[in-house]
Amino acid sequence: MDKVEKSDSEWREQLSPEQYEILRNKGTEPAFSGKYCDEKAQGAYVCAGCGAELFSSETKFDSGTGWPSFWQPVHPESVAMHEDRGHGMVRKEVVCAICDSHLGHIFDDGPPPTGLRYCLNSASLGLKKK
Ligand code: FE
Repeated sequence: MDKVEKSDSEWREQLSPEQYEILRNKGTEPAFSGKYCDEKAQGAYVCAGCGAELFSSETKFDSGTGWPSFWQPVHPESVAMHEDRGHGMVRKEVVCAICDSHLGHIFDDGPPPTGLRYCLNSASLGLKKK
């Protein structure tokens, strides 16, 4: 898939102010506030920035953290990781590989088989229900 690149003003036009703050400014929605935190429907979670398919409901799990959590992306190349040294912590940031929008962070306390927890913002996602 080709990369999606947009100017700052194009992103501001396309996204809601909340989404802009999270996707383009690496913001975080408050815990338990997002619409997909408790979502149980089957389907494909897509990037709210570009529509790329990123995660499947089959790898979603209840982490109890207040953010939608997954143990694996649909394809390894769907997402990219960056080191995030903000807020006095070193964390692994996860972004959409196509449009570079911020999705959330990756932690290594997830369930088998990967042991990973992709802790995402609902605002960074859309859900295409099956
Ligand atoms: Fe994207």
